[in-house]
Amino acid sequence: MKWLGRVFKGLLVLGLLAAGLIWYLLRPERVASQLILTGGQILPMATATEVPGPEAVLVQDGVITAVGTLAPLQESGAPVHDLAGRVLTPGLIEPHTHPIATALLGAVVDVSGFRHTSRAEVMQSLAQAADATALTPWLVAYGWDPVAIADLSAPTLAELDEIAPERPLVVITQMLHEVFANTAAMRASGISLATSEAGEPHGIIRDAQGRATGAFRELEAVNAVLGAMPAADPAVVELLVRRAYVSYAKAGYTTIGITGAVGKHPDPVGLLRHIGTRDAPLRAFLYLLPHQGKDLGGNDDFRVLGTKYWMDGSPFTGGAAFAEAYEHSDLTSERMHIPHGHLGPVNHEPGDFSATVAELQGQGHQIAVHAQGERAIDQVLDAFEAAAPNPGLAHRLEHNALITPAQIERAKALGISLGFFVDHIYYYGDALPDIVGDRADRYMPVGAAMRAGVVTTLHGDHPATPIDALRTLRTAVDRHSVSGDTITAPDQAITRYEALSAMTLQAAKQLGQQDLIGSIEVGKRADFTLFNGNPLTTDWQALSVAATWKDGQPTQTGLGGWLRFGPAFAAIKSMLF
Ligand SMILES: [Zn+2]
Repeated sequence: MKWLGRVFKGLLVLGLLAAGLIWYLLRPERVASQLILTGGQILPMATATEVPGPEAVLVQDGVITAVGTLAPLQESGAPVHDLAGRVLTPGLIEPHTHPIATALLGAVVDVSGFRHTSRAEVMQSLAQAADATALTPWLVAYGWDPVAIADLSAPTLAELDEIAPERPLVVITQMLHEVFANTAAMRASGISLATSEAGEPHGIIRDAQGRATGAFRELEAVNAVLGAMPAADPAVVELLVRRAYVSYAKAGYTTIGITGAVGKHPDPVGLLRHIGTRDAPLRAFLYLLPHQGKDLGGNDDFRVLGTKYWMDGSPFTGGAAFAEAYEHSDLTSERMHIPHGHLGPVNHEPGDFSATVAELQGQGHQIAVHAQGERAIDQVLDAFEAAAPNPGLAHRLEHNALITPAQIERAKALGISLGFFVDHIYYYGDALPDIVGDRADRYMPVGAAMRAGVVTTLHGDHPATPIDALRTLRTAVDRHSVSGDTITAPDQAITRYEALSAMTLQAAKQLGQQDLIGSIEVGKRADFTLFNGNPLTTDWQALSVAATWKDGQPTQTGLGGWLRFGPAFAAIKSMLF
């Protein structure tokens, strides 16, 4: 019956060719290289407070060459492109995200609190996926989230083995710090099932008899399982990352800052450089992981800016290095397994880290450091202070959940920019008092940073949250939780104009690209986000992203353009033959 398979493959290839032709015909049209955008509202975002916008923008060869009233711009002879009453802003910038991990985890079974509200629903999703095809022979699920789903007790080994008796199954938690594996996955990873072995990784959770329970906690143990997982074919990963770029563009972003190319691929930096071309729907600015070398450089479509470090972990795993212990509650003790009186660890010795900072900034690196708790933030500030200001580009502090007013002042004095993971408030706002107690009243102090005059930005840290620029914008303004029940630290709210500034000009400054992008001003690239409605005034429900432009052209998101035949066929071929 071999011929049947051949016929099937032949039909499949023909079908794909036909689909490819349709995609090609559907790809977005290119507009004239010289044109005038007018007929809608234009928000240049070049000033600290709102000023009346210009009537028209002249774009020539991808660059903004004039901004003002329509009549004089028409002397250029450029054709007019009608904005049809929509609102034009500079292209949105996401300064802290992880596209490869987003692409890969977007292609596995979703068990997240974004899509589920109870343990029963989560277990049903897992069971339904048990026989599904996947990127690799393993069944992988991502997003297990006991903070977001109140009754989500850990899965037992028996439950996981019942769902997948033969096939390796791993369930990864939303914050990536814990994994649950079935017996087949533990066997494939070489984990001793019956008793612990000398020298085995820390964090393998065993029962009273020493048997593995299927739970693996913290980096060493998690890596012991995930390290054994087969990697997806690089061609498939490339196609998925290209698709992720389309998701960012559709959300309104025209530039991303990649704070660590995390994700299973033999050469993640090479992949990002390879796809970081002029026809990409996004500009990408990369921070290397410490083991990825020190080579900087690139062009305006893809550039390596520096290095990324993690000084502490996540508040939702016990990893954030707070100044005072985690709140003692049912949530922290029963579901998050955080011991009473726990202070999260800092990851680097102070002396070592100062030396690292001094060496890297001497080589022109900008350094971005993950720091959530006050102790981690102090340590980073000490290191930056000891190294003196970076002559190239001011360093960055990432997330800043509990940064204090004094630390904000120190950051300001050192010229350091502050990026806030404001979506914590949206997804975990209801749970925060059970994790940090009264400190919820000063959690993610975006307003204080903005008022202090520090370069202040907002990010979604995907895949930690779904890509949705408007949610990030809105959350910085209203600070509501997803349920609507909690408003976290309302005095830290910022205005819509400030939030849009954080996602455009401020983010451009954080990336050191303020001469290139971030506002609608003469000399900058013609990167735009076009809104249905006005992001400064329209009801959130009625506001949406209509399109994005990069280098004066609508972004290429169709399969005939950016996704291309080449990568698509390479991916399909790798799966079939
Ligand atoms: Zn991150």
